Amino acid sequence: MSENMETVRCLIIGSGPAGYTAAIYAARADLKPVIYQGMQPGGQLTITTEVDNFPGYPKGITGPEMMEEFKQQAERFGTEIRFGVVTEVDLSNRPFKVKADDGKTLSAETLIIATGASAKWLGMESERKFMGMGVSGCATCDGFFYRGQEVAIVGGGDTAAEEATYLAKLCKKVFMIHRRDELRASKAMQHKVLNTPNIEMIWDTAPEEILGDQSGVNGVRVRNVKTGASRDIPVMGVFVAIGHKPNTELFLGQLELDDLNYIKTKPGTTQTSIEGVFAAGDVQDHHYRQAVTAAGTGCMAAIEAERFLTS
Ligand code: NDP
Repeated sequence: MSENMETVRCLIIGSGPAGYTAAIYAARADLKPVIYQGMQPGGQLTITTEVDNFPGYPKGITGPEMMEEFKQQAERFGTEIRFGVVTEVDLSNRPFKVKADDGKTLSAETLIIATGASAKWLGMESERKFMGMGVSGCATCDGFFYRGQEVAIVGGGDTAAEEATYLAKLCKKVFMIHRRDELRASKAMQHKVLNTPNIEMIWDTAPEEILGDQSGVNGVRVRNVKTGASRDIPVMGVFVAIGHKPNTELFLGQLELDDLNYIKTKPGTTQTSIEGVFAAGDVQDHHYRQAVTAAGTGCMAAIEAERFLTS
């Protein structure tokens, strides 16, 4: 990493709410941030529909529109936004060495990692087809659209259990489809799910196909993995909650990660195990996973980067 090295005071990787908020604050602090947008410019919100829980949008806004506004706000203060993916980082010495797929090699005085997490999907063609038209990876984001209706949720972990109980408050009925006869979720969450009258457990069952037409999802075809029997469950929405994976491959072996591979930060800060490297948003949070909390930690990361550079 030597040819045409470009020096950057604050390099931000990732363009979800955490990355763009970090950019807004870093740009206003005159750090002249450069942001690499990554594989999915705008992040996970670009695959949701309406966002009704981000403060400041009383009438709601679509995920893609909101992320466009975040981007414009970051640009307004001089952030350089690059369409591209960071392919290599070397955090062994500061300034950190970073390579991107636009051919650039950068030397970054501070690094803000906001690479997010990716929802795991079942991998069916029909799931892709109805994404945003009845298939969702986020009950808190999209549950509201299914008020009074019947929906299904796939998964048996804490996320699925939490989302099922959230949906049960809004929806007439929630079918919780799990591939085993026992939930992975914590005992407390299991207790909650199993004692919610309008959640029906569908045990030992795997979804085979999401059913629907031009107006969206109208059912899910499932198969009992023990008996092999198939049946169709009529639902207007299918929530997939089979886990997320943090986008931390680039940092394996360089930064301290927790046992789920999320970046470890010092409590109450965005500081990682390496001075000058900060992590914000879902890449370091598997608990809240909200746009507003991601934006909050993005702000913290930029303030901490500025203090680090000026101390
Ligand atoms: P988990 O990995 O814990 O659970 C994923 C669930 O999805 C499992 O039940 C798994 O089944 C199922 N699953 C995985 N792949 C498939 C597939 N291809 N088809 C069908 N089902 C599948 O993920 P979570 O997101 O639920 O939780 C991640 C971590 O975050 C956990 O440590 C959890 O405890 C934590 N968390 C904590 C919360 C809290 O404390 N309030 C809230 C949310 C998450 P199987 O059980 O058979 O493997």
